[in-house]
Amino acid sequence: MKNRTAVISGASIAGLSTAWWLHRTGWDVTVIERAPAFRDGGQNVDVRGVARDVLREMGLFDAVAARNTTETGTVLVDARGAVTAELPSDGSGGATAELEILRGDLARTLFDDLPDGVEFVYGDTIASVDDELDGVTVTTAGGQHLHADLLVIAEGVRSRTRAFVFDDGEVEERDLDVTMVFGTIPRLDRDDDRWRWHTAVRGRQIHLRPDPYGTIRAILAYSPGDDVLGTTRDETLALVRARYADVGWEAPRILDALATSPDVYVDQLQQVRMTTWHRGHVVMAGDAAWCVTPMGGGGASLALTAGRVLTAELANTDDHDAALAAYDAWMRPLVDDVQDLPRGLKAFAYPQTRAGLALRRVVDKVMTSRAFRPLTAKLTQVAETDRALPPLTTP
Ligand SMILES: Cc1cc2nc3c(=O)[nH]c(=O)nc-3n(C[C@H](O)[C@H](O)[C@H](O)COP(=O)(O)OP(=O)(O)OC[C@H]3O[C@@H](n4cnc5c(N)ncnc54)[C@H](O)[C@@H]3O)c2cc1C
Repeated sequence: MKNRTAVISGASIAGLSTAWWLHRTGWDVTVIERAPAFRDGGQNVDVRGVARDVLREMGLFDAVAARNTTETGTVLVDARGAVTAELPSDGSGGATAELEILRGDLARTLFDDLPDGVEFVYGDTIASVDDELDGVTVTTAGGQHLHADLLVIAEGVRSRTRAFVFDDGEVEERDLDVTMVFGTIPRLDRDDDRWRWHTAVRGRQIHLRPDPYGTIRAILAYSPGDDVLGTTRDETLALVRARYADVGWEAPRILDALATSPDVYVDQLQQVRMTTWHRGHVVMAGDAAWCVTPMGGGGASLALTAGRVLTAELANTDDHDAALAAYDAWMRPLVDDVQDLPRGLKAFAYPQTRAGLALRRVVDKVMTSRAFRPLTAKLTQVAETDRALPPLTTP
């Protein structure tokens, strides 16, 4: 029998996981990636819950563990850097998970383990999608026509191809009014291997996290956010510098270092909520389908899991629609779980006033006290389910 064929748009965690699994079960796979070459960049992500089982099944658990960021725990610090509370980080979950990895290292681990035969088209994007009775035809901006049994859109939160297939009523892009700037900066003697997290009034956070390369990963996150989409890197950094001008601790050093950082990634947090993730021969995966943002957490875990679940559902029935519906049904509770943010979470995470910050410090103390630690540890659980992964036999 002829192999089934898939075109996957996007070569990051969701796209690579899907390519890995589909190819292992006999599909011919072509991946289209907008970037001119494989993208290695990105900062700290983690692998939690059922995604750990997916990695085990792929035989990649140890490879991911070996590329750990080396982070040993998570502490909240005041403007002098003194620790005010320590978040629980024991077991496989916790603020610092067992599997902490840089996005680029996770993507590279998947990419290096892809079986021979997965085709890549770099520097191209889909310009049109024609869903037909016998499959789907995509035409790329570079002029390629590819006909396949399945198109998987895994283009991340700002997916363009999504709008070719789903209408506005089916896609909600919910702006969380938080700007995040991620960058790699030099490590100094005073740095250590903990995730250090400082919160200042007017909704400004600073995070410093170790990596395995002798540098430090800095994150500035603030709300209300700025409109940074469409601004240049220098314009964005100027906005951020103004925003953090009066924040103490490591802010001046980070702002100076970001100006020359080789790896700056800026995002305005936006959830993506879709009423359905499939139509005809097209299916959505990862942030393009359900971006949960770092506020919810678990984007990489869900993206990793998506490839495994989608492939199993397609292997378990010849009824295409039923398979895609089963994938949707399996993934949706995991996504809903992290997208429904607790009321008041943003005000708590991004306090605006001195009184708000003082209250936050009290609550931090209570939540990290011995009595409340088990409850607090649960807050960082994502991609947790009692359900077994859908059965899948690989040849
Ligand atoms: C370079 C980079 C750095 C990141 N850094 C961080 C970080 O520091 N912290 C964090 O929490 N999350 C980060 N993320 C997001 C994180 O990877 C995702 O939230 C999560 O892993 C889900 O992955 P995904 O595969 O669904 O989407 P993404 O990781 O966003 O990947 C989408 C992929 O699709 C490609 N693409 C986009 N549009 C098109 C198109 N039209 N046609 C073809 N290809 C397209 C992109 O180049 C990218 O390779 C980063 C993502 C990228 C791409």
